[in-house]
Amino acid sequence: MNTFVALDVGGTSMKGGLVAADGALVAAEARPTGRERGPDAVVGEILAFAEHLAAASPGGPPAAAGIAVPGIVDEAAGTAVYAANLGWRDVPLRDLLAARLGMPVGVGHDVRTGGLGEAAYGAGRGRGDFLFVPLGTGIAAAVVIGDSPYPGTTGAGGEIGHMVVRPGGEPCPCGQRGCLEVYASAAALPRRYGDTALGAEDVLARAEAGDRKAQRVWDEALDALADALTAATMLLDPAVVVLGGGLAESGDRLLVPLTARLADRFTFRAPPPLARAALGHRAGMFGASILAERAWQSSRAPV
Ligand SMILES: [Zn+2]
Repeated sequence: MNTFVALDVGGTSMKGGLVAADGALVAAEARPTGRERGPDAVVGEILAFAEHLAAASPGGPPAAAGIAVPGIVDEAAGTAVYAANLGWRDVPLRDLLAARLGMPVGVGHDVRTGGLGEAAYGAGRGRGDFLFVPLGTGIAAAVVIGDSPYPGTTGAGGEIGHMVVRPGGEPCPCGQRGCLEVYASAAALPRRYGDTALGAEDVLARAEAGDRKAQRVWDEALDALADALTAATMLLDPAVVVLGGGLAESGDRLLVPLTARLADRFTFRAPPPLARAALGHRAGMFGASILAERAWQSSRAPV
């Protein structure tokens, strides 16, 4: 059975693995991204990590490699067009990796690739059309249609975090005001509570312990999320909304009040069910193995 090198590159760490064609995880490892050493050094780290993983494949060389990266990604060209937190502009990742590893390579956007992972092996399996929404330091979505994440015309599809849910509201670093991300991201909770030394989980714990300010911040986050998911549902009619990222780790403490808010907002139709992502922080890595498999298949297709 084929194995694939799968890499998910984040701002601070890279998750790498070897994944068999049936989805079995053969090996997994993490390394720091090392972005403080500059954009070229990050590319060097990725190439070395991928080579290390490929060499560790037990049953001979892997068939292909897949990599998920943040920012604006041109998946057809295999290029990382722009990634602010890695300092990248127009990095031809697919060609660089293919030259280093000597195998076909697929490149994808991190959140869309996570959606691909959840579609194949996680909470979106068998659901066809669904939304995958990781709630992390930022918020983005993969709009999965027929098991494939929709990239949009410019590769910027799914930016639900910059959907304006509070017109004229608090400023967002993107330049708009009132974006979802300003109210409901893991970074927003401590900032709006007024103590950035805390994590989002701490603010949630304080809200549950009766801290009035924390309760207000948490309620406003849930309201903003419910408004954004309502708008997205009216447009897309997803079979399920799969919530991921750090905030989804809180499980029912997020899902129960959010489900209640959706029920309040929907009048003429039922809201979509909410589910917690099944693959956790490995969604991107599993999705990258699917990118690899697709790259392998297209390399075998007759021209
Ligand atoms: Zn914004």
